[in-house]
Amino acid sequence: MKTKRLFKENTYLCEIDAKIVEKTTFEGQPAYIFDQTVFFPEGGGQPWDLGKVILKDGTEYPIAKVVEADGEILNVLNTKDELDPGTECHQVLDWPRRFDNMQRHTGEHIFTGVFDREFGGTNRGFHIGDDYMTIDIALEDRAKVDTITWDMVKEAELKSNEIIYQDLPMIVRHFDDFDVASKEPMRKPLTVHEDITLVGIGSNDNDWACVACCGTHLKSTAQVGLIKAFKLEPNKGMYRIYFEAGRRAFLKYQEEMEVLHTLGRKLSAGTEDILSKYDAQVEKNSAKSYQMSMLKKEIISRECKRICDAMASGAYENGLPIERYNILSLDDLTQLGRALSPHVKKLGFLVHEPSTTVLLVSDGKINCGKLVKENASIYNGKGGGNDIQARAIFTKMEYVDTFMDLIEKHLR
Ligand SMILES: [Zn+2]
Repeated sequence: MKTKRLFKENTYLCEIDAKIVEKTTFEGQPAYIFDQTVFFPEGGGQPWDLGKVILKDGTEYPIAKVVEADGEILNVLNTKDELDPGTECHQVLDWPRRFDNMQRHTGEHIFTGVFDREFGGTNRGFHIGDDYMTIDIALEDRAKVDTITWDMVKEAELKSNEIIYQDLPMIVRHFDDFDVASKEPMRKPLTVHEDITLVGIGSNDNDWACVACCGTHLKSTAQVGLIKAFKLEPNKGMYRIYFEAGRRAFLKYQEEMEVLHTLGRKLSAGTEDILSKYDAQVEKNSAKSYQMSMLKKEIISRECKRICDAMASGAYENGLPIERYNILSLDDLTQLGRALSPHVKKLGFLVHEPSTTVLLVSDGKINCGKLVKENASIYNGKGGGNDIQARAIFTKMEYVDTFMDLIEKHLR
């Protein structure tokens, strides 16, 4: 190991002087190894640090990537310049980003520990994403429960926040000897064999909290500030819990409260009666929808009768009914067409003005679909249908009229 990992001794160290001891490559890009560093490489589910290095002449290079490969920490810089071994520089950590990572990562330790302590659940997967974190809790041999419900997640969330209020120290211990380390009380058997770091909460006796971890941690639980879960879903026989910790948890809470308050204003409700007011609204809407569908049925049936009477009294020019509609929807007209079809002699037209569409309706003696197929394209129309009903859609109302004119002449 060529680099002294200062982030292991002090996760709050933000700036140091360092020297490039080796120049190598990572994925085809120049990468540098420093004699000592504050930059944590990717590991333990925690993303790599960002920051910058400043040369003696004041030139600044942002950090693009920090990774660990073959036991060495490689730093890729965001520059086309290449630096030589021996170059001295000043490292500056992007502290807000690191602190955010430490809040989330330490929060995950607490939340996972509580699932272990309360339910004997084992964390089998951890994801730290841009918008949320997840843990996958498996109920294995040690499980004290046979399922995880949302109420249990809420209980774990409350108990995690109580650990935050207690301001317990995060205990980080380094071991070189596997046998010594593996005797410590911990929630998962040790799998790392050298350079072992055990992280615990509050006391070394808290086996539910202690685990091997290479990430960066806050010095006390209070600095996590807040842990908030927001979703539980089954995942491959496990329980996936979506949550946030730290500043992000607070911002998410703030954002969701904003949504809740806006919704409350719209419903003239407070948080205490928003659900009952919403339910009442849903009930009112469904009663309205039912009433609307009954009214439509009534209108369609009356329209059908009116058109039939008009056909019988010879009210339509050339005997072909043309009716125009604005308020009824295209679907309503399709229903009207279906009701009308057995009574139509030759052909009838139902025009839906808002969509410049015309429905052709017949009793089947004239094939409506064929008429649309053969003639609509003459006026740039499109559409289709079957022998008793077809629709032709045009870009302008005048095309609808010319199309109907053409069909009328065709049938004369
Ligand atoms: Zn950790």
